[in-house]
Amino acid sequence: MSAPIGAEVAAPKIIQLDDYAPLLGAPEISQLRALAAPLQGRTVLMVNSTSVGGGVAEILNRLVPILTELGLAVKWDVITGGNDFFEITKAFHNALHGGPYELPPESFETFLAYNEQNRARMSLDSEFVIIHDPQPVALINGRQNHQGHWLWRCHIDLSRPNMKVWEFLEPWVSRYDGAVFSSPDFSRQLPIPQYLAYPSIDPLSEKNRELEPEYIQSILERFGVDPNRTILTQISRFDRLKDPVGVVRAYKLVKRYFDCQLVLAGGGASDDPEGDQVLREVQQVAGDDPDIHTLNLPPWSALEINALQRASTIVIQKSLREGFGLTVSEALWKKKPVVASSVGGIPTQIIHKQTGLLAHSVEGTAYQIRFLLSNPPLAQRLGEQGHEHVREHFLITSQVRRHLTGFLHLLGPS
Ligand code: UDP
Repeated sequence: MSAPIGAEVAAPKIIQLDDYAPLLGAPEISQLRALAAPLQGRTVLMVNSTSVGGGVAEILNRLVPILTELGLAVKWDVITGGNDFFEITKAFHNALHGGPYELPPESFETFLAYNEQNRARMSLDSEFVIIHDPQPVALINGRQNHQGHWLWRCHIDLSRPNMKVWEFLEPWVSRYDGAVFSSPDFSRQLPIPQYLAYPSIDPLSEKNRELEPEYIQSILERFGVDPNRTILTQISRFDRLKDPVGVVRAYKLVKRYFDCQLVLAGGGASDDPEGDQVLREVQQVAGDDPDIHTLNLPPWSALEINALQRASTIVIQKSLREGFGLTVSEALWKKKPVVASSVGGIPTQIIHKQTGLLAHSVEGTAYQIRFLLSNPPLAQRLGEQGHEHVREHFLITSQVRRHLTGFLHLLGPS
């Protein structure tokens, strides 16, 4: 997996705000600077549960440096915990997406004990404290005398949570000054103000920037994928909610009619203990089909993922539940036709028959893939329209703007 790459890639350069001007226009960048002017030196703390793997880490990796370049004093801290903590938080995650919750009642105490341990070692005295997702939610205990502005940023679809877990979390969430959701449909009745902010991708990051065809070719060679045959790809952590087994089943249905290969590429996240088990399940269903490439990638694989997305004929995201599904925006940005489940934030990105195709089952996914494979002009049009949709709504600069306006709003007229 870690064999040297066959073609040269330019050394990464530090991306600066002005580098976005050719893509977005200089006025967009000056507006961000103007919005940031009254916020110079203001302190911001972001806290989440992993620095690599998954959408939240992907966003913070770009959001933090850009807000810093704009003059804010931003820190990013990651909570720590033992396996027992991350097994509980993964169970919370699945339950908040509507799954069952079967852990013993003591798990809530263990969860709070790890939060307390983190609270004791962190400095939580920034003016804006943004706590991402449920894992660190009880850090609000560290707020002194109602100081600062505390926001709970939820990346999960909370529309149908398992109530056992939600009833435990809700009193903690209600102590924040506001909650931020990725879609209006994800929110719940809460006694605090709620805000909307779409997640975003960075068009200049290693994950999304343009690549030389030779480099893409070298990655396909390295993974044994044939560039001259149809490539169907899903990029995701090996997580049951991403339904990799369902992707294999859909591929097998498509394969009856079209010659194709399937790439299932993903790695783990340090806060997700289920990955190895799910990977084994996928490998079992894939069997010995030489056209199924199950790639367990290390966390530093942004360029490889970029190349695999760019090499794909169609990108799939067959999630059973989803937060936002940043992989969809990543594929659309690369002008790829996408077939994805209509769950979580995916319908915000995929407007059916405009920016991609939505499906609701294994059979539906296979049907839409076949439909696109027999309609290349439609596939191309969906990819191009998808690219524009992402440019307008889901780029990192929109997210920066949302943060700046949010901070200004919280500070009030003074
Ligand atoms: N990702 C990655 N390596 C992997 C699998 C996923 O870098 O092995 C990235 C993927 O490209 C995307 C993010 O992790 O940027 C996943 O975000 P998404 O919102 O799709 O799902 P999440 O994992 O947060 O549920």
